[in-house]
Amino acid sequence: MSASFPQRLIDGYSAFANGRLQSEQHRYRELAERGQTPEIMVIGCCDSRVSPEVIFDAGPGELFVVRNVGNLVPPYQPDSHYHGVSAALEFGVGVLKVKHLVVLGHAHCGGVKAFAEHAPPVTPGDFIGHWMTLMAPALAKVGPRGDLAPGEYLTRLEQASVVNSLDSLLTFPQIRTRVESGALMLHGAYFGVAKGRLSVLDRTTGEFRPVTPG
Ligand SMILES: [Zn+2]
Repeated sequence: MSASFPQRLIDGYSAFANGRLQSEQHRYRELAERGQTPEIMVIGCCDSRVSPEVIFDAGPGELFVVRNVGNLVPPYQPDSHYHGVSAALEFGVGVLKVKHLVVLGHAHCGGVKAFAEHAPPVTPGDFIGHWMTLMAPALAKVGPRGDLAPGEYLTRLEQASVVNSLDSLLTFPQIRTRVESGALMLHGAYFGVAKGRLSVLDRTTGEFRPVTPG
């Protein structure tokens, strides 16, 4: 083993092997034999504070997760470029046939903040700057900050970006078809990091409503 492999990970694995793995060994074995059949796919941010498996208390095999900077969804664009999110969508929706697709936004998103404060032009080597331009329609919808406090403005942008990602999902023919047939449901959610509060998008009002833990 590499001497530089982080001790934190060795310790964490030890805790997992002695704890959770003990109670879930049977499930892991079953999943290895049967394969995975998650019913829910989550598109979340890379941010270390917003792990979907932690927030939703998910066990192995339950969530099919793709994470990227800003929990963004690029539009359907079949070409010769490398489309990581689109590949994950193709697998999750087309092969695993998940029933729910959740875009999970969050408070204090560094990607959204960077885009709001340093909107284009971006330099050719600036992957984040270019990637975050995917949320330009959300920025346009929210409009200028005006009298809003900076934090409130960023919250609106983060939430508008979730809605924009949901719109982008519908540009994928396979997703649109499954949504229209009722085989797939799209959802927007938002995690408030400081208090750990989850809100879910109400598509009829366009508002994010807090979830009351049962
Ligand atoms: Zn983020």
